[in-house]
Amino acid sequence: MFDKILIANRGEIALRVIRACREMGIKSVAVHSTADSDAMHVRMADESVCIGPPSSTNSYLSIPAIIAACEITGAQAIHPGYGFLSENARFVQALEDHGITFIGPTAEHIRIMGDKITAKDTMKALGVPCVPGSDGGVPTLDDAKRIGDEIGYPVIIKATAGGGGRGMKVAKNASEMEHAFMTARSEGKAAFGNDEVYIEKYLTTPRHIEIQVFGDGKGKAVHLAERDCSLQRRHQKVFEEAPGPSISEAERARIGATCADAVAKINYIGAGTIEFLYENGEFYFIEMNTRLQVEHPVTEGIFGVDLVREQIRVAAGLDMSFTQDDLVINGHAIEVRINAEKLPNFSPCPGKITQYHAPGGLGVRMDSALYDGYTIPPYYDSLIGKLIVHGRDRTEALARLHRALGELIVDGVDTTVPLFHALLQEEDIHSGQYNIHWLEHWLEHKFN
Ligand code: ADP
Repeated sequence: MFDKILIANRGEIALRVIRACREMGIKSVAVHSTADSDAMHVRMADESVCIGPPSSTNSYLSIPAIIAACEITGAQAIHPGYGFLSENARFVQALEDHGITFIGPTAEHIRIMGDKITAKDTMKALGVPCVPGSDGGVPTLDDAKRIGDEIGYPVIIKATAGGGGRGMKVAKNASEMEHAFMTARSEGKAAFGNDEVYIEKYLTTPRHIEIQVFGDGKGKAVHLAERDCSLQRRHQKVFEEAPGPSISEAERARIGATCADAVAKINYIGAGTIEFLYENGEFYFIEMNTRLQVEHPVTEGIFGVDLVREQIRVAAGLDMSFTQDDLVINGHAIEVRINAEKLPNFSPCPGKITQYHAPGGLGVRMDSALYDGYTIPPYYDSLIGKLIVHGRDRTEALARLHRALGELIVDGVDTTVPLFHALLQEEDIHSGQYNIHWLEHWLEHKFN
């Protein structure tokens, strides 16, 4: 096992990893920008190294600075958290060249899944059901129009290098194709340096269902059921739950086994998430994330396992501590993402926290790096906390969420907490009747 792990991240996820290290008797190294000298992850880690100025390009994304920090402190492995360098194949390659272990999948797997066309081809070949669409890239507008006619409108044009909801455009009919095709291409080029696009059937009322998988890198893999992350704003998740309220036990077993088999076949190592759209009882693969997800705690809640600990174990060459048969769902878990944002426009709201009080009690977990007097810097993501609740069933989890939100105090900045109070008044949330468009429609009505 490693003696010392460096965490190439900040905020709540850096704390999450430090906590796992501490329970495993592993020393932790925090890295930070000059804007984060007073951050909680720096205070909580055993050691810390300043790696650059506030801009993340020159700090949290600087591969040489992070490798230097490893060498200075003698850390043998790096946990990347999510975002930043977590899905950067070049980074993983550089670590390999320096003899540092990356706690995550191989550079090759990251590369395959990072290109959406290659990812889809790979998954299809592994027997995972995909959204009907073009076979690979679509080079010209004429090709796009032909494919649109073949698969039938509406269609979605997606940049193969896209991510974070960027580089995607819907064409409702043939006359919208030219604009959608050109826009998706130029967004792909501007944001990701790659203008290749592909086309998929646009599903009109799907849910977003994702399967958590975990592999040992030696041909064994399990699935940890699904999360429903359909409540999204601008393709960004805001409320996640496990298990999915619309998924039956038989469906879970079937799609879970398909996903576990697929990743076992490629000797996948560590945590991964296979994302699907789910409509009329069918699953359609959209992408795979080769890292720990923001919403992983809901899965931990229903299975009672520590996914970061498992990531560290398999990276050190150990076996997973559970088999598929050990993984039995217990109750229901919900996570809400608390952002420092001002409603109704969700504009970022950095600033000083004058008072912070985290909720507690049975079945409540607050993952946050906030503290009284902390100043949220304006340079990074606006996520300031995740409130996760667990109950014996969905009704109990919702009641607990309501109670815990009432206890939470974050003063000094605006947050998305009022959004969740309002959502909990909605019948559709209680009955679990929502698809990926529900939240956007609701926001339009509520605030316009
Ligand atoms: P990103 O990598 O940018 O997150 P994804 O491929 O994961 O992109 O898609 C993000 C979201 O976009 C999905 O959760 C869904 O809301 C929507 N989406 C993607 N593909 C389709 C599709 N074929 N039909 C309908 N909605 C889609």
